[in-house]
Amino acid sequence: MGTDPRDELRELVRATRIYLEAQRQLGLEFIPTAPVAGPAPAGPPLTLAEVREELGECTRCKLCRGRTRIVFGVGNPRAELVFVGEAPGAEEDAQGEPFVGRAGQLLTRIIQAIGLRREDVYICNIIKCRPPANRNPEADEIAACEPFLLKQLEAIRPKLICTLGGPAAQTLLKTKEPISRLRGRLFEFRGIPLLPTYHPAFLLRNPHEKKTVWQDMQLLQRELGRLTGRA
Ligand code: URA
Repeated sequence: MGTDPRDELRELVRATRIYLEAQRQLGLEFIPTAPVAGPAPAGPPLTLAEVREELGECTRCKLCRGRTRIVFGVGNPRAELVFVGEAPGAEEDAQGEPFVGRAGQLLTRIIQAIGLRREDVYICNIIKCRPPANRNPEADEIAACEPFLLKQLEAIRPKLICTLGGPAAQTLLKTKEPISRLRGRLFEFRGIPLLPTYHPAFLLRNPHEKKTVWQDMQLLQRELGRLTGRA
């Protein structure tokens, strides 16, 4: 007589639970899986230059009316680490480069604190044009701009993504969970580990949270070392 398939299934579930719990205790925080968010890209990824060309002098959303410059992204096109922020502010709008104002200077120091230079990583935002009076990006603006962020990430295919602040994490992870619950935990975005942390502008307003971000950066450093074999 063969075993009852329901007993076999129960045993399989039990063994899987034990295995996963053991892995969790060993520090595993996520299980790499095939891409889940959105359809698989058709054909080979574009280069960053091609993504920029496709974006053109964008008028896909209302933010085009108030911007001085499109703030596409900056850094190493083959970066192992990509930082994704929210949207350009006044300085970024004037210069056409992300994270060059006060929050940007703090981000540069954070990057240096983990042993990297700004030019080693790639830095971009979910929104490429400055929202009026630095308000939060609206859903239609994110929807218009997100495909270009996804193509940038596909072009670079980094080993690790670090999102800065709630909107960037919530956009890529398709969640409404607050950043206070997301930060410091490793997630996965299309097969790439993703670590949310607080936005540097939030740190300027709440300097006591710098130690929290430092903890996140230590996790990031360990994870990057492991993923690049340089641990
Ligand atoms: N804040 C952001 O989220 N992005 C920038 O480029 C500058 C400030």
